[in-house]
Amino acid sequence: MTFSCKQAPSDQALLSGLKADVNYLAADDLGGRAIGTEGEQKAADYLAVEFEKIGLEAKGTDGYFQPFTVSKPTNPHEEAVIGTDGKGVTGRNVIGFIDNQSEKTIVLGAHFDHLGMGAQGSLHRGDSAIHNGADDNASGTAALLALAKKLKHEKHNSNFLFIAFSGEENGLWGSNYFVKNPTIDLENVNFMINMDMVGRLNEEKTLAINGVGTSPSFVPLLETANSDSLKLVTSESGVGPSDHTSFYLQDLPVLHFFTGQHEDYHRPSDDSDLINYEGLLLVVKYIDRLVNQLDAEPKLAFSKTKDSSGDSPRFTVSLGVVPDYLYDGKGMRIDGVSEDKPAQAAGLMKGDVILQMGDSTIVDMMSYMRALSAFEKGDETSLTYEREGAKLEAKVKF
Ligand SMILES: [Zn+2]
Repeated sequence: MTFSCKQAPSDQALLSGLKADVNYLAADDLGGRAIGTEGEQKAADYLAVEFEKIGLEAKGTDGYFQPFTVSKPTNPHEEAVIGTDGKGVTGRNVIGFIDNQSEKTIVLGAHFDHLGMGAQGSLHRGDSAIHNGADDNASGTAALLALAKKLKHEKHNSNFLFIAFSGEENGLWGSNYFVKNPTIDLENVNFMINMDMVGRLNEEKTLAINGVGTSPSFVPLLETANSDSLKLVTSESGVGPSDHTSFYLQDLPVLHFFTGQHEDYHRPSDDSDLINYEGLLLVVKYIDRLVNQLDAEPKLAFSKTKDSSGDSPRFTVSLGVVPDYLYDGKGMRIDGVSEDKPAQAAGLMKGDVILQMGDSTIVDMMSYMRALSAFEKGDETSLTYEREGAKLEAKVKF
């Protein structure tokens, strides 16, 4: 070592940092971090202090902060207007930079806001309660800080921009505002990494990576970086329900990392004691290795992917189930069943795998969605599904 002023952080130091960050952000004291609340402001202040401690350069419009204001529409058919002034709710993105004097910049992001006391977006029924959002997305925010610590102590070709977004839960407000008001030239952005819900790595170590079709450079390197034998489950599309979508829509390659859906999602029980911290560290280390390999490549080419708007089927009916997006066997595995919907009425349960619906064989999520799009309200059909090795039949009425 000739030039480094500080030693690279050990795994042990990273792990205790991850725990401290998740515990701070997901504490009741922060009240669920809804945009515009005191808890969200405290979280942003905390992140700015951490960015400074790590030695990141401030890259917001007000130090590390990039404030934006959203005026909510009075008419539900109008879109919310995101700007810097006017009446409405104000949030702050928190932005830090590592300047390696490069022409290209890699963006890493994670949203730090959550649902506050519930209301909109919550799946909780009952009295209002603090939605701590430990997995969604204190986990990704903590991972962002850990990656900043690692990347600060390695040698790279690219610059790095770290953005903690606010207003994600309301409709990707913070990332939308950033791409329209970027604090670096978007032309120089190489690609964007988004971490949203990375704290629940399961026993099989399944890590979902969405957006792998947005650059031809991604797929060949995903397994090369996989020295901890994670089980990678990939999807092509650059459009999804999180902040990477804002960057993809600017024609930038994106990857979204996700450890899977669970029953505490958007409920007050998404707490810090349910986080798999060792698993979270594995995700951080995987992303670090992948970023290092991608950093050694020339600026990545962008490819458009087939997205929901054009290609995917339209539905007029639903079964009322949460599909298990990490399942890669044959069929569509159910991860949750909603109350008073057709699936519940037909006796379907979490863990059942749907294999046939009417005339259609279900091999994966896409064929399930295609099959579903053929039905209309009032239709009846037969379902074949597997439960604990047995094949069963049910009748469903939509
Ligand atoms: Zn989220």
